[in-house]
Amino acid sequence: MNNYQHILLAADFSEHGDIVAQKARYLATKYQAKLSVIHIVDNLPITDAAYGPVIPFDIDLNDELMNAAKKRLAELGKHLSILEDRQFLEMGSAKLEIVATAEEQHVDLIVVGSHGRHGLALLLGSTANGVLHHAKCDVLAVRLQDN
Ligand code: AMP
Repeated sequence: MNNYQHILLAADFSEHGDIVAQKARYLATKYQAKLSVIHIVDNLPITDAAYGPVIPFDIDLNDELMNAAKKRLAELGKHLSILEDRQFLEMGSAKLEIVATAEEQHVDLIVVGSHGRHGLALLLGSTANGVLHHAKCDVLAVRLQDN
């Protein structure tokens, strides 16, 4: 069996994110693999087909969200010794962007938490589930407890 060579940590900055991050860091060290990190900023629900625009479209708001996320990502990158060129920030659907970046960057293991900010409503978080179904590489869902 080949060692993993490039591991991608999906970071949602949630309460238990550090457990997921430490597992990714541990595996990267164990396999002497490259470690990258990705965060996806959700698209703002600015319109709804049923009742039209709910808030005026404001591109600055997206810019501000991206800037704040970039700062958080840089802090996490520093904490995990991940250089800037391995920190990925996207906007859109978390599961789709994680899978797309994994393919573009030739990642062979994606590490996600079993649950994130969306809580325990589902047996496996919606992002973890989506990544598991769509990724072409291995996916590790780190089990997070419900406390
Ligand atoms: P969830 O599906 O929201 O319960 O999240 C499950 C896991 O998916 C989290 O522990 C993260 O590893 C990953 N994840 C969820 N949302 C994001 C996001 N916006 N950016 C990066 N990773 C995410």
